[in-house]
Amino acid sequence: MHPQFKCNGCKAKTEFLWLEQLDTPEGFKAYQCMSCGCVGVKNIAEALHIPDSSIDRCTKCGGWQFLGSGCHTCALIGA
Ligand SMILES: [Zn+2]
Ligand SMILES: [Zn+2]
Repeated sequence: MHPQFKCNGCKAKTEFLWLEQLDTPEGFKAYQCMSCGCVGVKNIAEALHIPDSSIDRCTKCGGWQFLGSGCHTCALIGA
């Protein structure tokens, strides 16, 4: 079973095919949308099966983060 995400390209809720061979920073995964075929990178905290109670918005960048684990986006941009 693949986790579902909202696609950056077609905006559909879709299952993503993870591109494990691509090197991505911690907390992110490269994907190909099985609906429109676009390739992109997703914050894994944005997976639709993750309950809202276990994630919140980063106060610095506004990105989604897992509670208590720090913001992957900020780690990535070095803020
Ligand atoms: Zn798509
Ligand atoms: Zn952040």
